[in-house]
Parts: sequence; C-alpha cells; structure tokens
Amino acid sequence: MALKQHPDTVLFLFEGYEYLSYPAHHPFRPERANLLRDLLEREGLLDKPFLSVRNARPAGRRDIEMFHAPDYLEALERGSRGEFFEQLVHFGMGGDDCPVFPGMYELAALAAGASLEGAGLIASKKADLVFNPLGGFHHAGVSHAEGFCYVNDVVLACLDFARRGLRVACVDLDVHHGNGTEDAFLDRDDVLTVSVHESGRTLYPWRGEESAVGVGAGRGFNINVPLPAGCDDGMFLETMRKIVMPSVELFRPDVVVLEIGMDVLQGDPLAHLRMTNNSVAEACDDIRELGLPILALGGGGYTPHDAARGWALSLLSLTNCHPADMFAGIVGGVFLGSNEHTGMLRDMQVFTSGPEREALKDEVRRLVAFHEQHTLPLITGAKSPPSK
Ligand SMILES: [Zn+2]
Repeated sequence: MALKQHPDTVLFLFEGYEYLSYPAHHPFRPERANLLRDLLEREGLLDKPFLSVRNARPAGRRDIEMFHAPDYLEALERGSRGEFFEQLVHFGMGGDDCPVFPGMYELAALAAGASLEGAGLIASKKADLVFNPLGGFHHAGVSHAEGFCYVNDVVLACLDFARRGLRVACVDLDVHHGNGTEDAFLDRDDVLTVSVHESGRTLYPWRGEESAVGVGAGRGFNINVPLPAGCDDGMFLETMRKIVMPSVELFRPDVVVLEIGMDVLQGDPLAHLRMTNNSVAEACDDIRELGLPILALGGGGYTPHDAARGWALSLLSLTNCHPADMFAGIVGGVFLGSNEHTGMLRDMQVFTSGPEREALKDEVRRLVAFHEQHTLPLITGAKSPPSK
C-alpha cells in the first residue's frame, strides 16, 4: 500500500436487511451496525472523501462452498425456510447458541457477502481498508454451526485472498478463540492465524492453548495467546507488541484480516477480560502502521452500544483519524463520568490491581516467553519479495 495519509476505505452496511435477525432473546444483535453508522456520522467520518459506504449483498452459494460442505448448506437453507428436521442437530443447529430461525441462511450469506466483496476490493486494489461490522463468524466449521456462527466468513475471505496468491495474516482479537479459522488453516504456511483470546480454561470454545502451533507445513503458522480472565489493557498490549506484531512482521503478509471483537471489553456479558476500547484502538494503530491493506471484521460484542463505540474508535484508528470528541466529557466544566451521557467514544481506563495483577502479569510473561522460544523462530517470510 502506498503511504497515504488515510487509506481508501469501504464500510459495509446492511440497509434493507433489518428484518434478518437472530431470535429476540439471542445475544447477537446485528443492528449494532446501525448504531455504528450513527456514531461515525456524528464523528464526521462518513463525510470524508477517502471513505465510501456500500450496502452488503449476500454471497452466492458457490462462493460459500469454497469452505462449507454442500449438504450442510442445504440443511442450513432448509432450516432457514422454516423446516425443522433432526439432521439440523447433527449439523450443530437447534440449540441456544445456534437456533434455527427464519432467514438464518440469508443473514449468514449477507455477512459472508460483505467479507468476500471486501476481499475482492482489496485484492483488485480498489480499497486499502474494508470494514464489515457484521463479519467475523470465526467458529463455524466445514459441516457445522457453533458459537452463534453458521457461515465462516473469516475463512472464506482468507481463502479468497490465498487463491489469488496473496499471503494472509489473520489476526483475531475477539475474546473467543478463533477455532473454526484455526482448523481451516492449521496445516498451511500461506495463511498465518493469530488468535488472542480469553483462555479456554474459563471461556468457550474451551481451547486455543498456546501449544497448538500448527501441524505439518503449517507448524509455527498458528499462534494462540490465551489471556487469563481479568487481563487489562496493559497486559493485552504487551502480548500485542511482543507476540502478535513480531509474528506478523516475520511472516511478511500481503494483506491482514483483522477481527476486532468487542466482547473483550470489561462488562461484556459473555466474557471475563477487563479491557477497554483504548487498547483495541492502539492495536489497530499498530496494524495500520504495517502499511498493508486490511480487511477488518466486527466479531462479537454483546453490549451493543459499547461494541458500536469500540468499532467507531477502532475505525478512526485504522483510518488514521482522531476522535473529535475525545475530551467531550468536559461539559460546562463538569466531568461526567458516564460515557453513555457524554457520548464519548473512549472508555475510561480500568486496571487490575493487587495480588491478582502480579499473577496475571506472570502468566502474560510466560506466554511471551513461550512464543519467543517456540513459535516465532518457526515463522518464515515470503520466499520471494511480497507481491505489491
Ligand atoms: Zn466472541
């Protein structure tokens, strides 16, 4: 990517598809994308000449079959039409996490459509940065749904880049381990998968241990950073700077796929980290400074307003803009503590303290030492100069 002040950016929205939604009691709320649009409008980002908004279109069945099995997709489509049959359970559907509901195929295809169109825009150099807030369904497998995910748009986008000969670094910062993505690329050395997540000791999908470093040709090209519950911004950023960024730099990718799940934030109802959106935005700055094209995906985040604020702040970082209302908490000389009231994008800082802090820092140091010793030395860069 030529050095520009701001990357040519495409933001995907989903106007006209509001009728597609998970059942009312389900934590995944696709309408977070509308909240994000409102925040970005207020920040003035939607008026910038370097940013264009596109409405998403569903991916075609053949594109989705690049990763998923036809019989699974057939079942997904039938379930989406209102049929319920026993085989759905065999494919992981029908429980609380992946309920069977009308339009579920269309919703999954829409998210995948935006991620694949985004990959195409980047590969054809029509955009340097694409953000699909509905993307990031990293748990879905070839033939099964799990963890709210039916179609793995992350894998599809990575496969689409890889089939064009591009080396992909997939950096997954969602609080849940990217198990579906890891499984898809475990034995490949052309797609580096890096997942920073809350440890599987305390959170679904109960895996993602640091010792899973890839197999065969893919050995060293799968990096897991399982953060213990309670980790704060400083601890996350230490792993970002000492594990994630060095691994990506060693790999010398052509493109970065970045999942910025906002379920890492303190207060998310599904997870137990103590992070704020400030550190996610800093991580986005680090990624932007690589100077590579980026396909950014929303991922999780189950307090809708906090997720939208975190994505807005992250998108400002990725586009090299600064939030205009950073100090908007000061109103008439009175500092209002609640972000909800002031409309600030930035979270207030929180830290873990006391003996817990020391124990967490020890664990982070151990993870850094593990990767410095065992995985970073295995990562090799492009054999020929990067194709740019
Ligand atoms: Zn998640």
